[in-house]
Amino acid sequence: MSEKDCLFCKIVDGEVPADIVYENDSLIAFRDINPKAPTHILLIPRRHIATMNDLQESDIPLAGELFTTAAKIAADEGLAEDGYRTVMNCNEAAGQSVFHIHLHLMGGRPMAWPPG
Ligand code: 5GP
Ligand code: ZN
Repeated sequence: MSEKDCLFCKIVDGEVPADIVYENDSLIAFRDINPKAPTHILLIPRRHIATMNDLQESDIPLAGELFTTAAKIAADEGLAEDGYRTVMNCNEAAGQSVFHIHLHLMGGRPMAWPPG
């Protein structure tokens, strides 16, 4: 399942350390190494999926779990009332730099709209 050269597969496999805030059988969540907000957490499936374009119908429960888990973590981090942002960048034009899907969870400061 894991891709040899994928940074986030290496985090899943424990080969690259990460500050993990939550994990279960299907996903893990860890703090972004270069945070763009006071709280910046990445939620990833354990299974390698390169981009949002590669999500299949059978991944609907997994995709939903990424969001419901993000909401739980946001509550745990004290972000739920003020608000927070979730983002999944798809491919280069959107700013995707790691090709293992990840849901950004950011909060702790006001968020501009639209994103640049
Ligand atoms: P993208 O640009 O693909 O949407 O987001 C990739 C994110 O991964 C960036 O916010 C970047 O800071 C983060 N990142 C890159 N390398 C590492 C790493 O080794 N550890 C952690 N925790 N985050 C990383
Ligand atoms: Zn991967």
